[in-house]
Amino acid sequence: MTTKKDLFSLIPKIDDLLNDEKIKSLFSKVARGIILEAARENIDKIRTDIINLTEKNIDNFKIEHVELINNIIMDIEKKNRMNLRRVINATGVVLHTNLGRALLSDKIKEDIWNVANNYSTLEFDVNTGKRGSRYAHIEEVITKLTGAESAMVVNNNAAAVMLVLSTLAKEKEVVVSRGQLVEIGGAFRIPDVMEQSGAKLVEVGTTNKTHISDYENVINEDTAILLKVHTSNYKILGFTKEVSLKEMVSIGEKYDTPVIEDIGSGTLIDFSKYGLTKEPTVQESVKAGADIVTFSGDKLLGGPQAGIIIGKKKYIDNMKKNPLTRAIRVDKLTFAALEATFRLYLNEEEVIKDIPTLRMITYTLDEIEEKANILYELLVKEVKQCAIEKVKGYSQVGGGSMPLEMLPTTLIKIKPQDISANKFEKMLRNNEIPIIARINEDQILIDVRTIKESEFEIILKCFKNIFKQQRGE
Ligand SMILES: *Cc1c(COP(=O)(O)O)cnc(C)c1O
Repeated sequence: MTTKKDLFSLIPKIDDLLNDEKIKSLFSKVARGIILEAARENIDKIRTDIINLTEKNIDNFKIEHVELINNIIMDIEKKNRMNLRRVINATGVVLHTNLGRALLSDKIKEDIWNVANNYSTLEFDVNTGKRGSRYAHIEEVITKLTGAESAMVVNNNAAAVMLVLSTLAKEKEVVVSRGQLVEIGGAFRIPDVMEQSGAKLVEVGTTNKTHISDYENVINEDTAILLKVHTSNYKILGFTKEVSLKEMVSIGEKYDTPVIEDIGSGTLIDFSKYGLTKEPTVQESVKAGADIVTFSGDKLLGGPQAGIIIGKKKYIDNMKKNPLTRAIRVDKLTFAALEATFRLYLNEEEVIKDIPTLRMITYTLDEIEEKANILYELLVKEVKQCAIEKVKGYSQVGGGSMPLEMLPTTLIKIKPQDISANKFEKMLRNNEIPIIARINEDQILIDVRTIKESEFEIILKCFKNIFKQQRGE
């Protein structure tokens, strides 16, 4: 009769496992520690399995050597890959905050790597040979594109708003319409940011209506700023009245109070040209006379995470001197990516194609249909274990931008036969390159708007693998 002790003695030794040809070949590519850890964990698992065996199962217990080696190799691969890594976004949400918001343009790869992998002009002025400002490089292109006098960049738009308030309104009053006291992405609430910066919030008007006189009635010698927040992630419809930026600028001039606009998802492009809802552009805010405008780098602009502050030089000079600036300053990689992204806007005709965010938002329905067809044909031809259909649907811009914009799209709908949609979705997520899709009524929905054509083959391969695993091959 076999005892557990006999089984323990059958467990392979670590050294023998490491001498296996397949595992040995990994040593040149993978850190030794990772290989050892994977081997140990798999051996520990066998040991636990033996401990948990019941008397009558002891005789049936076998250690499958080939399976053990394969499991170790699979674990090594998992341990060896980056935790932060690419996924395929099949949700159709263009600016998906959880999936990294804007994708950078192919065209700026070299600009980023040149600065990353070499010394750079970050804070060096090659003309004078002296110390330079890290903001100088980007200021030129931003002011050219927006018409603003001056510009600077911080970590994100939340930091931008914080810096503006802390510089211009510490221990003073900031007037905001009640209709604009928004929360963005859970953690960013205008009233909280206000409190953090040391400014005192003065709310005016009601949720749906604010008038010029509401602002005028509260202005006093402690008023530092009139703040306008673009409610980019929701809209109040119906019986509404908002004071326009232009009107606020007139009030500001009358009472000698700067007007600040947090435009949120700042765009340089007039989307109404492409049949979409008109979003206020950054240039329009500058033209309307706002003293300071702040916006995000990784929303509709289509660049890296950043907060961009533009406007009157005298205010921005003060912000550059604020000690807070040092704490929220951005690094050279962000500067490189942002300057290169802004430079793409210098070529107005091309920029819509060059910046993935703009491209994905402005696809025509025909273009989407054509793209969906390619993936559809590929899947229908090669995958027989599920019902595949094309259906009409909508994609979203996301990132708190264009809340009411439903972008018509063509979805690929998948109903697997022997497996639930939930399980299928989980297997898509567990692919080597995870595929993130929507589920609706026990069906998987794939929106090609946010998928690159080069990713279609990866999706096909994943589908095939899932069904292979299903059949136990
Ligand atoms: C998104 C948004 C923010 C926050 O911007 P981040 O770059 O994500 O920090 C602030 N204000 C408005 C109006 C926004 O839409």
